[in-house]
Amino acid sequence: MGMKVVFVGPPGAGKGTQAENIVKKYGLLHLSTGDMLRAARDAKTPVGLEAEKYMSAGQLVPDEVIIKVIVERLAQPDAERGYLLDGFPRTVVQAEELDKSLAAKGEKLDVILHLAVFDTEEEETKELVRRLVERGRTSGRSDDTEEVIRQRLDVYHKQTAPLIDYYKKSGNLVKIHGEKSIPEVAAQVESILDNIQV
Ligand code: ADP
Repeated sequence: MGMKVVFVGPPGAGKGTQAENIVKKYGLLHLSTGDMLRAARDAKTPVGLEAEKYMSAGQLVPDEVIIKVIVERLAQPDAERGYLLDGFPRTVVQAEELDKSLAAKGEKLDVILHLAVFDTEEEETKELVRRLVERGRTSGRSDDTEEVIRQRLDVYHKQTAPLIDYYKKSGNLVKIHGEKSIPEVAAQVESILDNIQV
């Protein structure tokens, strides 16, 4: 069984960019719940159509919906090689359910990477709104509009940031200094992952 890594950080912090580099270097599966839900929406599956109502409003998809999606995905044989979860868990309930489902298989997460960028929430909101509005020009993502971005950041602070404390207690949370350049951030991540024994 390969390495099991979780990436936590606000939208726009650079998780996607770093994730691509990590999965290539360590041969991990990249499981982005945002990408999975957008694919389900485009394929018009029941889950995708349900999820779209929340995604377009910048709200989280209900825990039971996303938990089922991810637990089923992790049961696929290719997950054996290890994975990087990007965008999941996003609530404490999701984290608890993930831990339970791993524990049932005698597994656990190897490391939780917290991509932290800004000192104050005000500074962070300003920069992330700017980045995501810019991304929206080319991404074509319907949730990259200023109003929905502000909503997503608010949801991050209220529902996802509490995960940091949850994982601090588990002892395998590592903070990544995301304000550095892309290669410097990558080097921090690599120095952590290179030292993980699986
Ligand atoms: P972001 O750029 O905000 O990190 P993502 O591409 O990860 O965006 O996710 C887009 C949307 O998909 C979220 O705003 C949310 O509606 C939904 N989503 C993704 N992952 C989850 C999750 N773990 N729990 C609930 N909703 C999720």
